[in-house]
Amino acid sequence: MYITRIFMQRNDTIFQKLQRKWMKLRLQPIRVFCLHHVCQHFDSDTMYACDWMALDEFKQKIIALRNQGYQFISLTAAYEHLKKDYFRRKKYAVLTFDDGYKSLKEILPWLEEQKIPATLFINGKYLDGKSYRETPKEQYLTYDELFALTSPLIEIGHHGWEHKSAKKMSHEELVDSLQKNIEILSSHPRYIPLWAYTYGIHNQNSDFTLFNNGMTLVLVNGGRNYKWIGAIDRELL
Ligand SMILES: [Zn+2]
Repeated sequence: MYITRIFMQRNDTIFQKLQRKWMKLRLQPIRVFCLHHVCQHFDSDTMYACDWMALDEFKQKIIALRNQGYQFISLTAAYEHLKKDYFRRKKYAVLTFDDGYKSLKEILPWLEEQKIPATLFINGKYLDGKSYRETPKEQYLTYDELFALTSPLIEIGHHGWEHKSAKKMSHEELVDSLQKNIEILSSHPRYIPLWAYTYGIHNQNSDFTLFNNGMTLVLVNGGRNYKWIGAIDRELL
């Protein structure tokens, strides 16, 4: 059973296995972290426990990563590295925040002070200060708050118009979700055409639709980024 499973997952020839070993030797992976709420207080009414990290713990982790030799870069810079590097010995890390929660106002000033870039993946619908995903208590950045974030360390990408799984949307719905989000986000001075899948869920059809509409795809499955192979993988910090 076990051997069959391995064969089904990795049907590589010895040459391909050696190639992968060589790739790992020459390319240090880039760690791309996926975060949601980083703030002092956990609020069970508006946050999921698995989406929250205490501010102090986060700061300690960032400092620990720096002490381990990690340099924090933007997602766009990481994407360029993934596309172009043949050798990469430096350790790079990237911070991304999904959903555009209001709690970002607590962590972004510290990141700015530390000169650490951050990419925010936004659902355009919730920027009106009225719409919400599940409960009216959820707190998102408003349009004005988002558009006040003009630091060169910030990047703004897509998380869909609403927080819906791309896999559950038809081709037309997904295109509509992208177009509505582009309409609201593309005038942001720090806009980037990157799409982070909600829940990390996707399939070939959604990849094809978004890729053909100019998006670079961002997943969240804890994969390791050695080189660009169609999507950037993230892990939870
Ligand atoms: Zn999300």
